[in-house]
Amino acid sequence: MRNFYIDLFVELGMQLVILGSGQDAGVPQIGCYCDNCVKSREDKTFRRLGPSIALMDSKKKFCYLIDASQDLKDQIDMINELLQKDPSEKSFPIDGIFLTHTHYGHIAGLWSLGKECIDIKKIIIHCTQKMKQFLENYHPFKHLIEQENITPIPFEIGTKQHYNEFSISSFEVPHRNEYVDTVGYIIHATKTVVYLPDLDYWTEEILAIIEQADIAIVDASFYSKDELPRMTNVPHPPMIETMERLKDSTTEIYFTHFNHTNKTLDVTSKERKETLEKGFKLAYDGLIIEV
Ligand SMILES: [Zn+2]
Ligand SMILES: [Zn+2]
Ligand SMILES: [Zn+2]
Repeated sequence: MRNFYIDLFVELGMQLVILGSGQDAGVPQIGCYCDNCVKSREDKTFRRLGPSIALMDSKKKFCYLIDASQDLKDQIDMINELLQKDPSEKSFPIDGIFLTHTHYGHIAGLWSLGKECIDIKKIIIHCTQKMKQFLENYHPFKHLIEQENITPIPFEIGTKQHYNEFSISSFEVPHRNEYVDTVGYIIHATKTVVYLPDLDYWTEEILAIIEQADIAIVDASFYSKDELPRMTNVPHPPMIETMERLKDSTTEIYFTHFNHTNKTLDVTSKERKETLEKGFKLAYDGLIIEV
């Protein structure tokens, strides 16, 4: 006889939670009073935290993060709320953190694991070999390792690793790699999900990876090329180009990592309307996707 509870558990599956859908600096951006930033200060529902997602079990047995943003404190609150933790208990319910790359919004949250903050011990950091070397050599990460707050464990890019109910593998991404490499992740659960918050340009290999997935959550830093005067220094493919390249894709595409200048942040904009009409989805903080 089949066990009803196991059936129910399987049915509920795993969840991916968007903890932060902003570009590294989030929305509002520090010191900025553009329309999107002003609006997000007036109405907190328009706020977007630093880029991060949680992979968690529907029965709340595990929770892994991809990236540790500067807003980790608020994001842990979000997770604890989902886990229905007693707010009075000190809790850091994270089993491990996968890192994509060293830019600010993707690793700044690690610093809050140290002595000045929660002083948590032995959080496993899953990362590339180059990222491990970076963490071991530079303050404050070096200090966090010495104090045993974090323990980096490197993986081979492209190798599938198994954790609880899911497997995860990584792929190399062209991005401004000042210190280390950048990876995107492929999460293999009931569905296959690609998480790719940052890239400089699309390659045929990466488009093929997205094509093979059920869901892809991809870089939406900018809607169009004319959005930021210094955009040549910050090369992300604009959403217009991404939508053109993926227009015939059967993969469910979510955009994330929105810069404060992105026109789709304005709910009344024609850019937002057109994006949704083309069948693309816009991620937001707190979005839960069954995977
Ligand atoms: Zn980023
Ligand atoms: Zn702004
Ligand atoms: Zn980056």
